[in-house]
Amino acid sequence: MQYYSTNKSVPKVSLKEAVTKGLADDKGLFMPERINPLPASFFEKINQLSFQEIAFEVAKAFFGEDIPEADLKELVFDTLQFDCPVVPVQDNIYSLELFHGPTLAFKDVGGRFMARLLSYFLKGNSEHVNVLVATSGDTGSAVANGFLGVEGIHVYVLYPKGLVSEIQEKQFTTLGQNITAIEIAGTFDDCQRLVKTAFLDEELKSNLTLTSANSINVARFLPQAFYYFNAYARLKEKGLQDELVIAVPSGNFGNLTAGLFAQKMGLPVKRFIAANNENDIVYKYLQTGKYEPRASVATIANAMDVGDPSNFARILDLYDHSHEVISSVMKGFRYSDDEIREVLFNVFTEKQYLLDPHGACAYKALATDLAEGEVGVFLETAHPAKFTETVESIIGKGNVALPEKLAEFMKGEKLSVPMDKEFETFKKFLLQEAK
Ligand SMILES: *Cc1c(COP(=O)(O)O)cnc(C)c1O
Repeated sequence: MQYYSTNKSVPKVSLKEAVTKGLADDKGLFMPERINPLPASFFEKINQLSFQEIAFEVAKAFFGEDIPEADLKELVFDTLQFDCPVVPVQDNIYSLELFHGPTLAFKDVGGRFMARLLSYFLKGNSEHVNVLVATSGDTGSAVANGFLGVEGIHVYVLYPKGLVSEIQEKQFTTLGQNITAIEIAGTFDDCQRLVKTAFLDEELKSNLTLTSANSINVARFLPQAFYYFNAYARLKEKGLQDELVIAVPSGNFGNLTAGLFAQKMGLPVKRFIAANNENDIVYKYLQTGKYEPRASVATIANAMDVGDPSNFARILDLYDHSHEVISSVMKGFRYSDDEIREVLFNVFTEKQYLLDPHGACAYKALATDLAEGEVGVFLETAHPAKFTETVESIIGKGNVALPEKLAEFMKGEKLSVPMDKEFETFKKFLLQEAK
């Protein structure tokens, strides 16, 4: 299968090239030239399949032309050594818990899959690849842990100084080996700009092989479709799969866009809900038809603090830039920090379910929008313990147990390279450090 750029001014490339390049030369995002629908027979028996088996069927639709079936199966099963269960929260509302992976956030799925796919493509040749990743918190940890110790690959994690939680920071600054953390004196948008600029820099491109592990990379982005099918399957087990509405807490919109791909593959989703924090650029677009990116502001749902969501280009492309169509497949909601706090507190005290600040946005949007007879699933994108300080400031100290996996990270020592936000500084560093 070939991949085209959303800007459509460069030739199509192979999967391997799309994965190793990250971003197309015309700054567009790669899109598969076809989205293969899954057969009716798959949806009929989907409730009898495990998450891993479902993911393998979905992976074949994306990557089956490029990777032999046995290799792909190993890739998928090795990536998904954890489940994404559907947990009831209240009448007709379910949490799709995406935080049972190694770094306790949904980005483990794409991060691990991409690491394995890239290493599959590099097997047996001497190429050295440098993975650049900008993070507002969770991407860095998922990608760094996914790639840790993978031969022939070095990962550079760029993160905004002082704007990620201590636990998040520990998860990518304590690893060492082939992982370098760079602490940028700036915002997440500065980090993302540095990474994007690096891919377009001729001197860097001629000296180094660079790729991105942000959700602009198809290898990270596409596997996020897997768990939407799992949500459907687990609801079908209960006979609740009809009239399905799915709410997604959104920042860069990779996660939600993967859901739109799932729908295009035949997954019966009645409507998507895009939940934003105060960084409400897409919310405004859905209301007005105008897309007006602006500087991000810091919120307590920091992994959604994005002022110019990169995957929006994919959404526009999927629906031929039609605001009418886009606003009919998804509905937008936005919440202030105070509203997020209130929801998190209320759901904890009234339903005994502990949300994280991101999942709280999606829960609230779903609870607000769900109509009689519909069944709602919200994506719980991270374990609340990843945001212990924030969550305990809402529900009281000592109420968030630290999972074993996180406790391990907290023992490590932080190692990072402090850097200003000038591209020239970053470029010089890469030219000196990277292979
Ligand atoms: C990354 C992230 C999001 C936003 O996902 P996008 O794909 O960027 O829209 C939401 N919640 C958490 C916990 C995240 O880490």
